[in-house]
Amino acid sequence: MVVPTDYYEILGVEPGASNTEIKRAYRRLARKYHPDVNNGDPTAEQKFKQISEAYAVLSDPKKRWQYDRGGVSSDWFAGGMPDIFEIFEQAFGGSPFARTSQRRRGRNIQAEVTISLEEVLTGASRTLNYQRIGPCPHCGGSGREPGTGTRRCPTCNGVGQIHRQQRTFMGVMTTITVCPDCGGQGEIAQQTCRVCAGQGVAEVDEEVEISIPAGIADRQELVLRGAGDTAPEGHSGDLYVVVHVEPHELFVRKGRDLHTDLTISFTQAALGEAITIPTLDGEAQLQIPPGTQPGTELRLAECGVVDMGSPQRGDLVVHIQVAVPRHLTARQRELLRELAAEERNSQ
Ligand SMILES: [Zn+2]
Ligand SMILES: [Zn+2]
Repeated sequence: MVVPTDYYEILGVEPGASNTEIKRAYRRLARKYHPDVNNGDPTAEQKFKQISEAYAVLSDPKKRWQYDRGGVSSDWFAGGMPDIFEIFEQAFGGSPFARTSQRRRGRNIQAEVTISLEEVLTGASRTLNYQRIGPCPHCGGSGREPGTGTRRCPTCNGVGQIHRQQRTFMGVMTTITVCPDCGGQGEIAQQTCRVCAGQGVAEVDEEVEISIPAGIADRQELVLRGAGDTAPEGHSGDLYVVVHVEPHELFVRKGRDLHTDLTISFTQAALGEAITIPTLDGEAQLQIPPGTQPGTELRLAECGVVDMGSPQRGDLVVHIQVAVPRHLTARQRELLRELAAEERNSQ
């Protein structure tokens, strides 16, 4: 951090200036370079910071004594800039940003939608109907009955600010606050809106189209910024949509792969066979190799789903079960006995 060379020069006072003179100089300059009256001009803001820093040092007897002896301690500003608004508040009795800090944020709203596993593959859209506190539909959020005008705010006399004189040990101080009745506008409604009673917000029915991306995971949340409740004269909260994926009767998702069980007969397992099995979006031929054991995993490439943001499909993993027949016909029993005899002979 660059420490300005002459704090006295910045405040435009003599090195021997009294506390009162320093305070007076600071207040005069702070008013001139205040961010509020300069529409956020960066040069003025820089100047405002400089004079606040100079004041932070010179108004503190210990720091001033040290400074006067040529020592500027870096830990004076170890936490960055002195809190210029805190200094401003001490000198003026009001925060320059009172208006912005008072702007409230509305409540977040939660909603839920359910999609199928098939829709995880393709992506989906849902129309969501919900209620929220939103801009009043009758007055459009102005709080004024449509067709009526405004009149000058009687509280602040149209100025938008309220000045209060305070006598303190440092002299008379003027506190400036934003008028609470007109919010700094200087004007109020001639007739307040009969729906929202001048609040500008009311309970409204909303309908939003939600686009659900392919590959979304079960219980993943989508956030619609600003679609939550609107605070009077404030910001809107967000709408959180929890997406549930319905369990599928055949497939279980693991990442972008799908898993399924397939039961084959022991002759299919022993001899091998190409069989047609259902996939998430159709069917596919699965080649059972001869001598397939129970518990074998066979993969059908690119028959799974996708990850969010990637078009690459995963696989369908088929877990093979082998069924042992419970009931045999006479002919089947005869053939199996023959097979058993052949097995003994070939051992
Ligand atoms: Zn209204
Ligand atoms: Zn007012």
